[in-house]
Amino acid sequence: MKIVCIGRNYADHARELGNAVPTEPLFFLKPDTAVLRAHHPFYLPDWTQEVHHEIELVVRIDKLGKAIAPEFAHRYYSRVTVGIDFTARDIQDACKKAGAPWEKAKAFDGSAVVGSTWWTVEELGGNLGDLELGLQRNGAWVQRGTTRDMLFTVDQLIAHVSRFMTLKSGDLLFTGTPAGVGPVASGDVLEGFLCGRSAFSVAVR
Ligand code: MG
Repeated sequence: MKIVCIGRNYADHARELGNAVPTEPLFFLKPDTAVLRAHHPFYLPDWTQEVHHEIELVVRIDKLGKAIAPEFAHRYYSRVTVGIDFTARDIQDACKKAGAPWEKAKAFDGSAVVGSTWWTVEELGGNLGDLELGLQRNGAWVQRGTTRDMLFTVDQLIAHVSRFMTLKSGDLLFTGTPAGVGPVASGDVLEGFLCGRSAFSVAVR
């Protein structure tokens, strides 16, 4: 199983980090060891001083496919949730400056929180392009967004990524974060929501 993550898929978030808005989807991978086990706390690594939360719509691929045409992409998934793409921002900034890969900042153990409830697209109204997602930190909203603001739709993302690598059943697609990313601290509780429904709660230690 692999985790494919999209970067800068919401213009407001690209700008808040000082990045250009991309003209084609940007993606990177997390290994399966990045998944934070359900109901386990997230332990801040000792090699970073700045871990950011990024709430994202997560799509579970349920059929093998390569070079999937965008108009057929909807046949390759049926359930979605939200998750967190935890990012060691200080390390990522150093990687960017050095022109180095992002894995140290993005692919570490526990860096992928995945909602424990999955919903069918139909249960959420039938349109992946019109979903509200959000993250509460200690009961207060820190990120609220809508998939209407995605630069590339889920189907376009699947088409793009599958030109370069085969997608397999069980793979997860993190589809990018809306604006409002920020640091987490020991003692925080982070709760992710999709269309007003709680998908996970994770304690930061
Ligand atoms: Mg992200």
